[in-house]
Parts: sequence; structure tokens; C-alpha cells
Amino acid sequence: MAVPQNKVTRSRRNMRRAHDALGAANPAECPSCGELKRPHHVCAACGSYNDKEIVAQADEIDVDEDA
Ligand SMILES: [Zn+2]
Repeated sequence: MAVPQNKVTRSRRNMRRAHDALGAANPAECPSCGELKRPHHVCAACGSYNDKEIVAQADEIDVDEDA
């Protein structure tokens, strides 16, 4: 197994990790419901993408209790 030849100091380790921070999200307003959504993703609130309904929402599905 490969073993590091030298100890990585706290300073060097932290300098390496200085670039590891996650970038902020870039939410955009959904054109059909106005909720903030991730760009290029189906809206989580109304299930639409490109002004078409892609994912049916739970309150729109007719659930028959007897079936
Ligand atoms: Zn929406």
C-alpha cells in the first residue's frame, strides 16, 4: 500500500481544502407556479417543466379508496 512520504501539515491540509467549499444554489422562479426551483429541473412544487406538466401532483390524482 502506498504510504505518504511526508506529513501534510494542518496549514497545507487547510490550504488544499480552501477550494472545497460548495457553491451557492442558483434558484430560478418557476414560470407556472412562481415557486423557486432549480434551473433545468422539474419544479418540485407543481411538477412542470418547460410549461408542461411532467409529474402529476398527489392532490391531482384521483385515489379511489375502494379499489
Ligand atoms: Zn412550479
